[in-house]
Amino acid sequence: MIIAIDGPAGAGKTTIAKLLAKRLGILYLDTGATYRVLTLKALKENIPLDDALALRDTAINLNVRWEEGKIYLDGEDVTDQIRSPNIDKSISLPVSFKEVREAMVEFQRRLVGTNDAVVEGRDTTTVVFPNADYKFYLDASLDERARRRHSEMINKNIRVELEEIKHHIAIRDRADLTRDVGPLKRAPDAILIDTTNLTIEEVIGIILSYIKR
Ligand code: C5P
Repeated sequence: MIIAIDGPAGAGKTTIAKLLAKRLGILYLDTGATYRVLTLKALKENIPLDDALALRDTAINLNVRWEEGKIYLDGEDVTDQIRSPNIDKSISLPVSFKEVREAMVEFQRRLVGTNDAVVEGRDTTTVVFPNADYKFYLDASLDERARRRHSEMINKNIRVELEEIKHHIAIRDRADLTRDVGPLKRAPDAILIDTTNLTIEEVIGIILSYIKR
């Protein structure tokens, strides 16, 4: 069984997908994290972020391991590094290339293999797992999404202004919505959940109610 969840930055995908996978006792895959790891690797190796072919080769050869909620790149724990504002700023370009996305989609499917999984991202319901058993599209207002990201950063002692986060989310929204390959769009058969005024538990409850049917 594949449960695919898409939606824009800060809509609650990661929190919800992680909890849902835990409740159901199945695999969890954050496809955004795979693109974040790729971007981090490119920055570390000084690969130009506009070099699609070099990025594709990097994607094909990514040495990533998921273990107990931690992400390891070439053996190093990069769980926090991939969430830094620097990655947020750099990621739009690498994720926009067709060659890169094709390699990453293969990688993501391989990570899931034949397991039951909750998979979340921007194109999991449309491109990665278009035949998923359940598809959800989580959304929320820009203000609420910025507020959520801001409190995540504050909790991690990263000092950043709310307005700056809002600005970067708006830029990423635009890049996600308008790119030619794998754009963020709601699959016609995905169930829309507006999480702006919902608690995490309420969202999980709504999703489970569909899965139990
Ligand atoms: O979800 P998260 O904010 O970690 O995603 C990081 C970036 O990776 C997003 O801004 C988006 O551009 C990109 N992404 C993507 N396709 C996915 C998941 C994420 O292009 N399936």
